[in-house]
Amino acid sequence: MLNADPISDTVTRVRDLTALRAAVRAFRAKGLSVGFVPTMGALHAGHLALVQHAKSLCDVVVVSIFVNPKQFAPHEDFGRYPRQEDADAALLATVGCDLVYLPEADLMYPSVFASLVHVEGPARPLEGEFRPQFFDGVATVVMKLFNQVQPDVAVFGEKDYQQLQVVKTFVRDLDLPVKVVGLPTVREADGLALSSRNAYLSAEERQTAARLIVELNAVAETVRNGGDRDVALQTATDNLLTAGFGPVDYVTLRDADTLSEPGPDTRALRLLAAAWLGKTRLIDNIAV
Ligand code: AMP
Repeated sequence: MLNADPISDTVTRVRDLTALRAAVRAFRAKGLSVGFVPTMGALHAGHLALVQHAKSLCDVVVVSIFVNPKQFAPHEDFGRYPRQEDADAALLATVGCDLVYLPEADLMYPSVFASLVHVEGPARPLEGEFRPQFFDGVATVVMKLFNQVQPDVAVFGEKDYQQLQVVKTFVRDLDLPVKVVGLPTVREADGLALSSRNAYLSAEERQTAARLIVELNAVAETVRNGGDRDVALQTATDNLLTAGFGPVDYVTLRDADTLSEPGPDTRALRLLAAAWLGKTRLIDNIAV
């Protein structure tokens, strides 16, 4: 019998590896394919779209909720990151999630823990520069979660575009037997990308936040029309600062696969931005 607490909202929650493995073994014994969506909780419609897509690709879907301490620097928002387990479980029940995995922090990182998954290439620039520990923390926890859940398919959001490329890279480099699928960003009516961190915004900041995607769309339009890229990027940065953002960490056009500066081998472009609005750091990106 599983060491799990079945709840009235019908999504079973498991908290330890033995229970997780027993549940996944039971799925496998029935010949079911397993989809996986890793999250940090405080779920919104963007997360739910990933679950629904995973469900369309696989027989069952496992969602993890784990606020991963290894991907936060000491000055970042680990302590105040929103945690709402019951509300999350209720939302997951509405989209057919089969199992929620909520590992305890000491299960993921016991006191004797000496390993780190380090990715170069697409992990180096942008977020890698502004948040130096971030992708090692992400890659390490995603590697652990993949080994724990052993899914056939894992679904990630393009909202965190660089993260998606980093995960695809180490899955390919290290021959992990999982298919990584990316899904377009789910947005509010005014274009703001849904994010758990939007909850930090004041009412006024929330109004201003939509400006980020407006500026990205304007740059993309200029680039598509053959306009001056550097001028367009600088104008977007200036407009964000004028609107109340600051600092603007980057607004940049990159090779969509490598995240490096576009070059002769670039097949597709991605426009990415990160900017502070008050105490909240927002990121967004679009295809060009
Ligand atoms: P998080 O809980 O922020 O770590 O995100 C968990 C997963 O949800 C990641 O794959 C994110 O890229 C994805 N995600 C977050 N926000 C959105 C969004 N607005 N649209 C689509 N996917 C998203």
